[in-house]
Amino acid sequence: MNSVSEIFGSMVFGDSVMKERLPKNTYRQLKKTIEGGRELDPSIADVVANAMKDWAIEKGATHFTHWFQPMTGITAEKHDSFISPTSDGSVIMEFSGKELVRGEPDASSFPSGGLRATFEARGYTAWDPTSYAFVKDDTLYIPCAFFSYGGEALDKKTPLLRSMEAINKEALRILRLFGNTTTKRVVTTVGPEQEYFLVDKKLYDERKDLIFTGRTLFGAKPPKGQELDDHYFGTIKPRVKAFMAELDEELWKLGIYAKTEHNEVAPAQHELAPVFTTSNLATDHNQLTMELMKKVALRHGLVCLLHEKPFAGVNGSGKHNNWSISTDDGINLLDPGKSPRDNAQFLLFLCAVIKAVDEYQDLLRISVASAGNDHRLGANEAPPAIVSMFLGEELDAVLASIENDTAYDPHQAVRMSMGVAALPAIPKDNTDRNRTSPFAFTGNKFEFRMLGSTLNIACPNIMLNTMVAEELQQFADRLEGAADFGEALSALIKKTVKEHRRIIFNGNGYDDAWQVEAEKRGLLNLKTMPDALPYYISDKNIHLFTKHNIYTKTEMHARYEIQLENYSKVLNIEALTMVDMARKDFLPAAEAYSKDLAKTAALKKELGVDTALEKEMVEKLSRLAACIYKKADGLEAALLGAKEHTEPLDNARYYQAVVFSAMQELRACVDELEVITAKKYWPVPSYGDMLFSV
Ligand code: ADP
Ligand code: MG
Repeated sequence: MNSVSEIFGSMVFGDSVMKERLPKNTYRQLKKTIEGGRELDPSIADVVANAMKDWAIEKGATHFTHWFQPMTGITAEKHDSFISPTSDGSVIMEFSGKELVRGEPDASSFPSGGLRATFEARGYTAWDPTSYAFVKDDTLYIPCAFFSYGGEALDKKTPLLRSMEAINKEALRILRLFGNTTTKRVVTTVGPEQEYFLVDKKLYDERKDLIFTGRTLFGAKPPKGQELDDHYFGTIKPRVKAFMAELDEELWKLGIYAKTEHNEVAPAQHELAPVFTTSNLATDHNQLTMELMKKVALRHGLVCLLHEKPFAGVNGSGKHNNWSISTDDGINLLDPGKSPRDNAQFLLFLCAVIKAVDEYQDLLRISVASAGNDHRLGANEAPPAIVSMFLGEELDAVLASIENDTAYDPHQAVRMSMGVAALPAIPKDNTDRNRTSPFAFTGNKFEFRMLGSTLNIACPNIMLNTMVAEELQQFADRLEGAADFGEALSALIKKTVKEHRRIIFNGNGYDDAWQVEAEKRGLLNLKTMPDALPYYISDKNIHLFTKHNIYTKTEMHARYEIQLENYSKVLNIEALTMVDMARKDFLPAAEAYSKDLAKTAALKKELGVDTALEKEMVEKLSRLAACIYKKADGLEAALLGAKEHTEPLDNARYYQAVVFSAMQELRACVDELEVITAKKYWPVPSYGDMLFSV
């Protein structure tokens, strides 16, 4: 094996390759485009495209693809080959600037929420030069934004880039107020920690629920679950280790900073954490990571489950979105810093985040809403569906002192000329931080923990960037006009802390008492996706996104509908799969077992042996089989009823209230049957088999 430094980024058309292969002038211009977040100048596109093609061919590429993230949440690609016929009947390898900059996939089947009229069903892709091209599977991948003929965003990347632009603009205004003249650009950074399960491929193949829905729709609790906590950070089994090693190598080749891999709480559950990078790259990288996890797993006879809740009774999988704001000259704006000036600036950015999270709780909740994640949030393993913030005792005490005009620490208290109490050093040791908080300050960044494992992280980061940009804008508007900056700053921080303190909660988020307390504080508790989604199109939120040019009103309505429809569709597939398995797998199993028991009873009777046991067992099996039969019919009827609810929200609510309960009722009968059925009759691998097989 080559050394890691040789492998790392070897398949990426990154900065060093560009520098080496592009004419000086072109390189400089391209660099400006990348750093300025601007569109590529058509005059240099041909040169860049040609260099990129030559490099890609050396790496074994024969095709290129415009790689984008439609509203399905996963990535899409359409491959074209480089070949171009010549007059003498042979071919040459060609790739023009036009092809690099803009593609036109025939993409009429992606969900667009009605944004593309049928006469203009095409979507267009445009290279996002802030994300480097790379070679994978003999193909040159060009990371792209995806939009309609009319310019409406049809993807997750366009709004993400717009939101990064918005926060850049407003954060720079704030920095200038603090006398910073050197920073040219402010970016948000993200490090997403990714959880996943690995199960044996042979077992996976025997379960239709896993194949069709990514999660088990049935399954009795195994004798052992995660109660001993013996998997968390435990020794990694050889097969898993081999998988992780290969995954790391594949990711490194693509310039993805995979750093830590460890076992998670549930059996068969693991986590991968990369080193953080800009939100845009982190999003692309996380999409690639998920894709490669699945692919590499197959090479090891494993299947990687990215569903938020593949197994009932043990933890589901989440994704922690570690988020911060940084400058191009390397300052982390959420780092408290050492000097009083840094402290004051930090406090202002902190206040912007506090105010944003309080005012846009609904958006944060919506950003992680999905059918799958509904199984996690509030289920005593993941953060509750209530959005709140954890700051830690120390920082909380600082805010209290500001709010009440008291000294933070009588021995150390200093009132600075800026009017803001100096902060003590915030401990970076996060070992005892609150794991139950959905949005926790962890020393120099915030960890947003409500994300489900499958989620495209663009969604929460669009929300985060935009809502914080809004608060920074309000702050800048106020402070720029102030006669006395120090005084205005001090007053602003105090006012913000006072008005938004309710969002800060340092206690146990899993505690029932928190639900009651949160309600008293007037915080939202949006338990399910259909509860949360209507807030997306509230006047407040439409105002926010249109004001910062992230979405138009039409785009928001489209996204709202797509999400709701997706929710209903997911539940529909799950319900159909359950009916199918109940009738084709579980009922015949009950019948087969009953038949053999009845035969045994008949033989025993001939011998004059008591058959009370067989009788009782057959009775039990018959009772449960009847229950399954009835509940499967009930679920089918519930599905038919959905057709009467055509409006998307009404439809999603119906699925949540009626179909979902019918699913749970059916599952209960089947799981009860599984417990009393002899192994050889049970048609699918058990939870014990799946969770402890690798
Ligand atoms: P843990 O949460 O397991 O204690 P860390 O706090 O060290 O681990 O880091 C978790 C994740 O946070 C990593 O992916 C890391 O790269 C990321 N991270 C660290 N600093 C920042 C930052 N300034 N911005 C965004 N993500 C960050
Ligand atoms: Mg973490």
